Amino acid sequence: SLSIGIVGLPNVGKSTLFNALTKTGNALAANYPFATIEPNVGIVGVPDERLPKLAEIFGSARILPAKVEFVDIAGLVKGASEGQGRGNQFLANIRDTDAICQVIRVFSDPDVTHVDGEISPKRDIETINTELIMADLQTVEKAIPRLQKEARNNKDKKAALEAAEGALKVLETGKTIFESGLDGEELRELHLLTAKPFLYVFNLDADELADAELRQRLAELVAPAEAVFLDAKIESELVELDDDEALELLQSVGQEESGLSQLARVGFETLGLQTYLTAGPKETRAWTIRKGATAPEAAGVIHTDFQRGFIKAEVVSFDDLVEAGSIAKARSLGKARIEGKDYVMRDGDVVEFRFNV
Ligand code: GDP
Repeated sequence: SLSIGIVGLPNVGKSTLFNALTKTGNALAANYPFATIEPNVGIVGVPDERLPKLAEIFGSARILPAKVEFVDIAGLVKGASEGQGRGNQFLANIRDTDAICQVIRVFSDPDVTHVDGEISPKRDIETINTELIMADLQTVEKAIPRLQKEARNNKDKKAALEAAEGALKVLETGKTIFESGLDGEELRELHLLTAKPFLYVFNLDADELADAELRQRLAELVAPAEAVFLDAKIESELVELDDDEALELLQSVGQEESGLSQLARVGFETLGLQTYLTAGPKETRAWTIRKGATAPEAAGVIHTDFQRGFIKAEVVSFDDLVEAGSIAKARSLGKARIEGKDYVMRDGDVVEFRFNV
């Protein structure tokens, strides 16, 4: 499944945040048969108000939300791109993820030293991005001579060479590929780290969290990438509490939703994902698909046999279903459509697949 790598300098609150992610992940995984959780993976359910409504209509016994997987990528230090620390391992691990989430320290606890002496979100972001950009520069500088050779004998390789040269220009100015907006199949084949979508988690103290002006300034530092603001210490407390107590603690610091929930939602969007829904007496469930996925591809997320044996899908939009009040009523109102293999799924489709096995 798709995953988001969590990176950050030492002492910014990564472990604190990651422990909270793992705790909610283990609780969630108990609901998913066959889910195995690796020690460096944390899973968060994507909050979705549609699920309880659907569960009510179908009398579902349980609700399974979509999930986002976070991977702890340890070992980012200055010089990682030159093999400092566990540099090479670090780069290999991060290459396997689909997006990069940077944890940035804003909290100013004098008992927790900062690797570079003082607190500066802007400098820390630059430090991390510089390492990622340097690693990409090495990749591109290695690729260009090879592509030049290949392009001499094969016209088709010209586009790949041009993509690499375009990337080199961007990286040399100290920008990430993500920032530059460069894209394309040839570029993707280079597997550059900074071509992945970025998102940022700012780890603040409770009083800083309440400071709208500060949050605005930090958001501007990273725009157009998304920013999530949280207090990792509070997040680690929240996962120990039951729902009512958790809400009370959140409200006491002026928040309505936990940082982990916000992170799951923003992560989901950053990955370009959407959900479709299935519902019955046993469970109401959100399934994760890429935007643009067809009906058979969506069926394949449930089981590969469903994709192979796909015949058709009965689809009702969530809004139509809620308005009708039941699936039978939606059918009689003509709101339930039969869709074939070319149907492109929409977010919030409530689906029942018909298939041969
Ligand atoms: P890592 O090196 O990035 O994994 O950082 P840790 O999660 O181990 O955190 C380093 C220290 O900072 C620990 O003593 C944490 O308790 C503390 N810490 C983490 N998040 C916060 C926070 O939001 N506020 C404060 N005051 N301390 C924090």
